Amino acid sequence: MKPTHIEHLGIAVKSLEESIPYYENLLGTKCYSVEEVKDQRVKTAFFLVGQTKIELLESTDPEGPIGKFLEKKGEGIHHLAFAVDNASDALAEAESKGLTLIDKVSRKGAEGMNIGFLHPKSTHGVLIEFCSK
Ligand code: ZN
Repeated sequence: MKPTHIEHLGIAVKSLEESIPYYENLLGTKCYSVEEVKDQRVKTAFFLVGQTKIELLESTDPEGPIGKFLEKKGEGIHHLAFAVDNASDALAEAESKGLTLIDKVSRKGAEGMNIGFLHPKSTHGVLIEFCSK
């Protein structure tokens, strides 16, 4: 299950209200979608750069994954998401290769995508996500 491209880069921010105008200025493009993902306790904002997206993540709960990340590390790159044909298959294959998973099967993420994470313990410190339509 070879990734086809980098689907998006997830960036943890304190405030979408402050960071959206910054990225609109930087990229010269408008944020095309703001969506709350209750399951992950985040509000997301998306920008398109070529075929890769930038996903800004604002925490809606200090105890959620982005809330904890912000407290520990501050704002910055949170995860890297690879596009694959089938996220559940990609997770199973990664596990069979000895990689540690956070998600055994994919779940629904922003934009209705099927997503699943590998554990940063086995990915040299980078939180990696598989993402499929
Ligand atoms: Zn993501």
